Formats: sequence, C-alpha cells, structure tokens
Amino acid sequence: MQRVTISQALTFACRDIGRVDACMLLQHVLDAAQAHLLTHPDQILSAQQLEAFQCLIKRRIDGVPVAYLTGERAFYDLTLIVNEAVLIPRPETELLVDLALQLIPLDRSFRVLDLGTGSGAIAITIAKHRPQSQVTAVDVSPAAMAVCRQNAQNLQIDNLSLVMGSWFDELSGERFDLIVSNPPYVAGNDPHLQQGDLRFEPQVALSAGDDGLFCINHIIHNAPDHLTENGWLLLEHGYDQASACRQLLQDRDFSNICSHPDLAGIMRVSGGQLKFVK
Ligand code: GLN
Repeated sequence: MQRVTISQALTFACRDIGRVDACMLLQHVLDAAQAHLLTHPDQILSAQQLEAFQCLIKRRIDGVPVAYLTGERAFYDLTLIVNEAVLIPRPETELLVDLALQLIPLDRSFRVLDLGTGSGAIAITIAKHRPQSQVTAVDVSPAAMAVCRQNAQNLQIDNLSLVMGSWFDELSGERFDLIVSNPPYVAGNDPHLQQGDLRFEPQVALSAGDDGLFCINHIIHNAPDHLTENGWLLLEHGYDQASACRQLLQDRDFSNICSHPDLAGIMRVSGGQLKFVK
C-alpha cells in the first residue's frame, strides 16, 4: 500500500491546484484545522483519505469550486453550507451586511427583507447580529430555500422566515424597514460566465439580461410599495453599475442615495431611503 504523509500529499497537490485550495481540501478530508496540517506533516493518510483527496483534486482540476467540494464557505463570522443550488458567498457581500447592520437598531424590532437569499448568507448574518429584528428571506428556487433553511437551523436562527417566490410576488401588502439584495447582475454576454468557478454556479443567481440590470431595475422599481416611511433599500451590484443604480433610485424618488466601495475600492453597494410612503 502507498504510504503518503500530509506533507507529501500537499506537495503533490500544490503543483496542480495551488497551496490554498490543497490545504482546504485536505482539511476537509481529514476533518482537521489548518494548524493540524502544519503540526502533523508526517501523519500517514489512510487509503480511504488518500483516495478521497485524489478524487477532490481531480474535480478541482476540472474546475469545480472548492466551496462546492467541501460543502461550506466562511462568510462574515459564520460558516455556511453551500451546494450547486446557491451562489458561493463572496467577501464583497460582507460590505452589504456591514451597511445593513449600521441601519438596524440593536434594541428594537426592525423588519428586514432579503431578496434572492440563496444560501441565506445575508439574511442569516443580519438575523444573528440583530436578534431583535424580524428578517424575511425570499428565493425563487426550492433547492436554494432548502440550503437556507438548513443554515438557519444549524446556526439556531429563530428570527428568520423563509418565503418561496420571485422577488416581491408573494409579499403583497407587506412593508419592511430595510430591503437588501444581492441579485443576479452579471451581463448575459459577459465572458466571465463561461470561465473559472462561475461556470459551476447557478446562472439564475448570476446573470440578468443584456446589461445585467434587469433584476436591479425590477427591485428598485417595486421596492417603494414594500418600504415603510424612511425605509432603506441597499443593493449589491456590478463593478460598473453604481451610477445606473443611483439613477434608477432617483427615478423612484429615493433620498440619501449613496454608493459604497468594497475592499478592492470598487463601488459595490448602492442604496437610498424612501422618505415618503407611496
Ligand atoms: N459578484 C459576483 C461575481 O461577479 C456576482 C454575484 C451576483 O451576480 N450577484 O462573480
């Protein structure tokens, strides 16, 4: 039988998939922390572990994102389960959560709506950090809803309700103090959709119309019917969509319209406040 140590397995895998991915996959196979890999370089992998690791390396070489291979992704201060039914939570979306948390009081009830929740990353993080708030998470995909439900259960979130449906369709007559969304916003002909990890993610969660603004436009247009007086709308959008978003917000009479840069300095979230209920 082949005797392969942690250190040898990593050296071998690094050549094909790089050190970061190799470590994450081996941690997953061994169910161990990264520190374990560093402190036990001579530990021999069992035949089963070696086979599982080789299989994951092969799928990673084929392009499958690490998060789908390990079934989880860290977001904010949480670990969320993910699968092919949901977009993999991105670091830039933490900006949207930060901005939302700044608007939500800690000490009183506040109604929050997350549209197109996917894994529930945004809704669950907000619900956890603002336990007095009542968060509603909407998604059109039953498979995504199942992932979100599982995450909420794992993290013992009890101030979150899930609604299956398209955008506002199932929310007639309901109003919220804050609406957030990371909708699909990549332009339909963007070549990135056919490259790298994006190829494996649900296209319905990524791309929206020729210019990527179809869903953003729909949300901004309909949000005033679902916001309370002085309620806020915050949207994540593409690297070149900030001014188009601000214009759409202005067209719907939002005030305090503002865009915010992500850690890469790219305007990534825009929003505004609805001063008067329509
Ligand atoms: N930020 C993602 C990307 O460009 C897209 C996420 C989205 O469409 N909401 O990969």
